[in-house]
This record gives sequence, C-alpha cells and structure tokens, in this order.
Amino acid sequence: MTTAHWLFGDQLGPHFLTRGPGAVDQDAPVVMIEARSVFRRRRFHRAKAHLVLSAMRHRAAELGDRVRYVHAETYREGLREAVGRDPVTVHHPTSHAAVRFVRSRPRVEVLPARGFLLAHDAFRAWAEEHDGHLRQEDFYRWVRRERDLLMDGAEPAGGRWNHDHDNREPPPRDTPTLGAPTPYRPQENDIDEEVRATLDRWEREDGIRFAGRDGPRRFPASRREAQAALRRFTGHRLAGFGPHEDAMLAGDPVMSHSLLSSSLNLGLLDPAECVAAAEDAYRAGEAPLNSVEGFVRQVAGWREYVWQLYWYFGEDYRNSNALRHHEPVPEWFADLDAEAVTARCLATVLAQVRDTGWTHHIPRLMVLGSFALQRGWDPREVTDWFHRSFVDAYDWVMLPNVTGMSQYADGGRMTTKPYTSGGAYIHRMSDLCSGCAYRPSDRTGERACPFTTGYWRFTHRHRSLLAGNQRTSRAVQGLDRLSDLDDVLHTDRRFDDGAP
Ligand code: FAD
Repeated sequence: MTTAHWLFGDQLGPHFLTRGPGAVDQDAPVVMIEARSVFRRRRFHRAKAHLVLSAMRHRAAELGDRVRYVHAETYREGLREAVGRDPVTVHHPTSHAAVRFVRSRPRVEVLPARGFLLAHDAFRAWAEEHDGHLRQEDFYRWVRRERDLLMDGAEPAGGRWNHDHDNREPPPRDTPTLGAPTPYRPQENDIDEEVRATLDRWEREDGIRFAGRDGPRRFPASRREAQAALRRFTGHRLAGFGPHEDAMLAGDPVMSHSLLSSSLNLGLLDPAECVAAAEDAYRAGEAPLNSVEGFVRQVAGWREYVWQLYWYFGEDYRNSNALRHHEPVPEWFADLDAEAVTARCLATVLAQVRDTGWTHHIPRLMVLGSFALQRGWDPREVTDWFHRSFVDAYDWVMLPNVTGMSQYADGGRMTTKPYTSGGAYIHRMSDLCSGCAYRPSDRTGERACPFTTGYWRFTHRHRSLLAGNQRTSRAVQGLDRLSDLDDVLHTDRRFDDGAP
C-alpha cells in the first residue's frame, strides 16, 4: 500500500508533491487537517483565518478524490482519524512546535523542507565558515552565487551587488498615490462563502474570537490565483518596485510592493520561480536592474535569511529580552483600534492592518515596531501581536523579524542596531505627517510628536548600550546636546499610557 502524505496548511503548492530529494510517492493519498485548536490559541485577524482556510480548501478541491480532508479539534485527533496507525510522510514543517509534534508521533517520516532556496545543512556550513558572524549582505551574495541568481558569470549582473542607494527615495511630493498599475485582486467564490459561514459559526458557537475586518479576500488562495498575481507583478509592477520601496503614502499603502508574501508563505508560490520571473523581466529589458535587484534581495536575501536564522537561533530565541522590556501591549493596539489614535501615521497604519491584515515593511518596522520599542512593550507580546494580525505571519518569519530586527530583543544577533527613529524620518519618507495633530519637529509641548519624544526617551533609557555601539553612538551625542531633555522626559505621559 502507498504511504499517505500529510500537507500542512502552508504547504499548498505543487512543489510539495513533486519529485526531487525526499520526494513524495506520485500516487500517495494526501491528508489535510483543519485543526480548530490553532484558532483558539490566538485571536487571529479574521482575514488571515479566512485566507488560510480558503487556501486549504481550494487545495483540497484541486486534489479531489486523492485527498482525505479532516475537520478536527487538534492535529493529534485529525491524524488519528485520517490515518489511524498507518505510516505517513510529511515535509519538514515550518515551526519548532510542529517539528516537535511530527517527530513525537510514531510512523511519521519527516522529509526535507520545501519552499526555500537552500537546505539547512548548507546554511549551517556557511555560518560555521563565518564563525557565527552572520551578515545579511554576505549571506545574500552567497545565495546569489549558489543559485546563480542575477549573475553574469562570477559577477553580479550590471557589476554591482547592491542597489539600495537607488531604492530609498522618499515618496513623490504633492501626489496622493505613486500611480503604479493596480495589483492583482482575486474574485471570491463558493469556497470563500463556506469559509465565512464556518468562521461565523466558530464565533457564535465555539467561542473563537477574531480581530480585524474580513472584507473581500485580497490575497490569492489557490495556485492559479497566485500565479496570476506573480504575472501581474512581474509584467506590470516590478519595474517601479525599487525607487520608492521604503516610502509610505496614506492613500496608496501598496505602491509597487508585490503583495506576494502570503502566497509564498502558504507555499502557493516557490521563491525560485518568483526570482526567476523577476530575472527574466530584467533580461527581456522589461524592468530596470535596481528594481529587479531590490526584489531579488527581498526574496533571496531577506526571506531566506529569516527562515535560516529561525532554525539556527533555536527555540529559546523567542524568550530573548535583552532590553528588559516588560510593558504590556495596550488594549487599543491589540484591538487594532485605529479610531482611538491621534498620531496620523500610527492611526493610518493601524487602520491598514485592521482592514487588510497587511502593510509593507517600513510601516511594520518604522511605525508599528518602532512605537512598541520606544514604549518598552514586552517583545514576546509584540511578536505575538504581529503573528495574530498579519495575513503572511508564521512563527518562523515572526521571531527574526519582530523579536530580532524590530524589537532588538536579541541584543544584536540579527541586526547591528535597534531600528527606531523620531518623527523626522517618518516625515521625510511619507506624507503621513501632513494634517497630523502633532509636529515631527516638536519634542515638548502640546504638539510634541510621540515618535520624536519616544525616540529621545528610548535613547535616554538605553544610553549606555547605544553609546557603546558605533552605529548609534551619535544618537547619544545628540541626546547630550538637548537643552530641554528634562522637559522631553517629562512630556505628557499620554504617549505611554494611552493611544497617542
Ligand atoms: P515586497 O516588498 O514586495 O517584498 C517581496 C517579498 O520579499 C515578500 O513577499 C516577502 O516574501 C519577502 N520578504 C522581504 N522581506 C522579508 C523579511 N524580512 N522576512 C520575510 N520575507 C521577506 N514578512 C512575512 O512574510 N511575514 C511576516 O509576518 C512579516 N512580518 C514582519 C514584521 C516586521 C516587524 C518586519 C520589519 C517585516 C516583516 N515581514 C514579514 C517582512 C516584510 O515586511 C513583508 O514580507 C512584506 O511587507 C510583504 O509584502 P510584499 O509581499 O508586498 O513584499
């Protein structure tokens, strides 16, 4: 009898069932488990719960008679119902908890991970070679060489590895949108309607609670939709990706970003096909090198780096709290209550998350994450908040990005400095300060910007750590030049206690 193969809900593309190292038997029956307990553990954004269930059910519909789709309370119960005592294979799951679970079950064979560009062993060897000094830029160049991505022989295409310099422009002024071609939008179907009915029933009868709005589904739930989204991006939007990658516009939250993260993380797209499609666009003269390199850097550099670090740092990384931050995440933030917020940047970004479960990397890092860091919120709670609130969030992507990069809770294992800024950065990189009740330049008084005040307070609180770091020592020198530091430190406590 052929051994059944179990697909987790983030292993939904064809590359989880095809040939290659550790391949699944071509005729293997497939098992999928919809476990309600996952949704009980955290109060997820409803659009995220919708997307995940819709994508699993779309995959089951594609696989037809080949799949045994089980609705269960837990994975344990679901597995028992689906295969009893029979053996089953599964590709390496994406979280420590899931790996522990599959390894603890008898007769479960764990096959190598799919959906990433490099094997764990290759990364470990690279990390050892670098004596634990893990620089993202070095890693990225290594991946480019290893996978022959955007290379002309041994040299990077166009002669330069890094085009960041061309990709950090502020937004165009005096226009509310970038004017980029619109992104792909899926059409909902019967499966989405059934998913909505399931979620309504869970809320009504099972006491499961969600946050945020479950408007029309915005992200692909099937391979066909994900391929259409990739084609739309590389064919029409990639060319403009680079220059304004770090900019924010209130009226144009997506700009030229790809919106592909949820499709990649559900396993609907393989990163190799995404970077190959981007490189093809460059070779065909359809997109400039700075935009293509910027996108390849995100996927082959950042996404891959984060995945590898999650396993390399190990399970205990989630308990890191180098800055000893213990403030609880306030209710208005946890509830995505944008209406309670006065600062226009934070209100706008929080509303984007509430309405869509998505915002691009700079609002995540320099608005949401930076605000939490300045106020000393507990990094575990902040990480959990991101995990619940974003359509593309999974444990592996959360720990390095939030615990490490955004909250600096690992004391610098992931990044060389804490990422935070005063209102001046937000003002320069967005149109979010115009019409705000606060002024980015003010650090005291009625119109003091919560980011500016928060930045100086953070610098003051961690002055000895920041003074000892080459990349942040100038911030401490700036602090020492403030004649009104006392006033800044005693400026209205509302920034810490309630919604600013
Ligand atoms: P684009 O800007 O178009 O980038 C292309 C692709 O690159 C993305 O689709 C994504 O797959 C990949 N990518 C880029 N940076 C990263 C990164 N740091 N980690 C992982 N993948 C990356 N990304 C997630 O996929 N899930 C998350 O939960 C998540 N949380 C984040 C939290 C914080 C605090 C920060 C700073 C970043 C986080 N990111 C996360 C990374 C990044 O913000 C999102 O991948 C990106 O905004 C998704 O939108 P996009 O698909 O339009 O990305």
